[in-house]
Amino acid sequence: MENHTLTEQNHQDTMAQQIVFDVDLIKRYDRTGPRYTSYPTAAQFHPGISEDDYRKWAQHSNEDPIPRSLSLYFHIPFCDTVCYYCACTKVVTKNHHRASEYLDYLCREIALQGQLFDSDRIVEQLHWGGGTPTFLDNDQIRKLTDVTSRHFTLRTDDSGEHSIEIDPRSVDADKLRVLREAGFNRISLGVQDVNPEVQKAVNRQQSLELTQNVTEQARRLGFKSVNMDLMYGLPYQTVASFDRTLDSVIDMNPDRIAVYNYAHLPERFKPQRRINEATLPSADEKLALLQHTIEHLTGAGYVYIGMDHFAKPDDELAIAQENGSLHRNFQGYSTHVDCDLVSMGMSAIGHVCDNYSQNVRDLDQYYALLDAGRLPLDRGIELEPDDLLRRDVINHLICNFVLDIKALEKKWNFNFHTHFRPELEDLQTMQADGLLLVEDEILQVLPAGRLLVRNICMVFDRYLRKGSDHSRFSRVI
Ligand code: SF4
Repeated sequence: MENHTLTEQNHQDTMAQQIVFDVDLIKRYDRTGPRYTSYPTAAQFHPGISEDDYRKWAQHSNEDPIPRSLSLYFHIPFCDTVCYYCACTKVVTKNHHRASEYLDYLCREIALQGQLFDSDRIVEQLHWGGGTPTFLDNDQIRKLTDVTSRHFTLRTDDSGEHSIEIDPRSVDADKLRVLREAGFNRISLGVQDVNPEVQKAVNRQQSLELTQNVTEQARRLGFKSVNMDLMYGLPYQTVASFDRTLDSVIDMNPDRIAVYNYAHLPERFKPQRRINEATLPSADEKLALLQHTIEHLTGAGYVYIGMDHFAKPDDELAIAQENGSLHRNFQGYSTHVDCDLVSMGMSAIGHVCDNYSQNVRDLDQYYALLDAGRLPLDRGIELEPDDLLRRDVINHLICNFVLDIKALEKKWNFNFHTHFRPELEDLQTMQADGLLLVEDEILQVLPAGRLLVRNICMVFDRYLRKGSDHSRFSRVI
């Protein structure tokens, strides 16, 4: 057993050496587990959350002595065609009229939600996700922006963080210009893989030239930040073929890159049944793809943020991580710790006054509730003090890879070692394996533990400790 001692020097080494890829360790710890975009996770949401509860949360949050800013999320569920790997909540249709009907209802929800939050609460962050937000035509984009700005206080000087997920196949120069005029300043492009053979097998044919053009046009229009989403574990991918995808993406110079693990669960996600399992890389090949991706991207100067995400060293995410102020929410990593997240649209998940809520996931139900003048809520969870404490612990670990035990004790007025005695005992094996180190009142995730940080967080998850089923989650690697 190695003796890991956190001297100042090896703390610095730890920070410099972002990540260690240890195949044996990864195989040993590979299991299913949450991605902790929330704690408690959506698995704990229940239908006992009422409209009155949500209104009460909004009211309480308005009464905070220093009112929190807002983050707005809008879910646009439509897609023209289906990508076979997809596990998102979406509606696949060629009928673009369906978007105008949806938009009418979404605008009603915006009006209902807008009434609940004081107008002095500035929107710092706004995000359109999907589905395919760029399924909307230019007039619909303008309408949604206009209605939002009538019911919420948006920043108009381009200082807010306004981002949108873009399917390059559904935009042209004109639509990009309309998006920029509507206040968007960040884009996230779906790419996945540039290899035509892979693209054909997953029904997402998108030329590299198209992605390059959209990226260049967006930069010319003044979009400040470009993210690209890739996926490993898709049919026909090899280390050599994915290497070309990585090179092509690095050439486009995005500020952030997300490389998601494809989880093949055809029994849960119907489109995945159209993927021929014989063409998928084996578990060992997937590990090799992941290892190569990490080495290639960090070698090209990107910082490993964690949980599939990479960013340039001068990107806000990398800076926030270095400062210990990175945060995680339903859109992934964020620098906006103190915002209430007001989410609108079918299936959207919000986070108001430290509680979570989710809208109904069925379009007809969404319309019916709004027809009745009601908020289209489905389920959620009101957090207990223990949830808040554990969420803080998990957030520190998953975002910043370090937990300052003394600072935590001061903040929550408790004794860490007594409260988390069983958890600390469970962490001993991980400590012996070199995943983490608890010393001098600091819990540090070591470079070999970074890829396995979900396993460390799972130790602090009270619901998993109580025996909640974790097989519904994706594998940690
Ligand atoms: S990956 Fe995106 S574009 Fe493809 S089906 Fe899913 S939501 Fe639609």
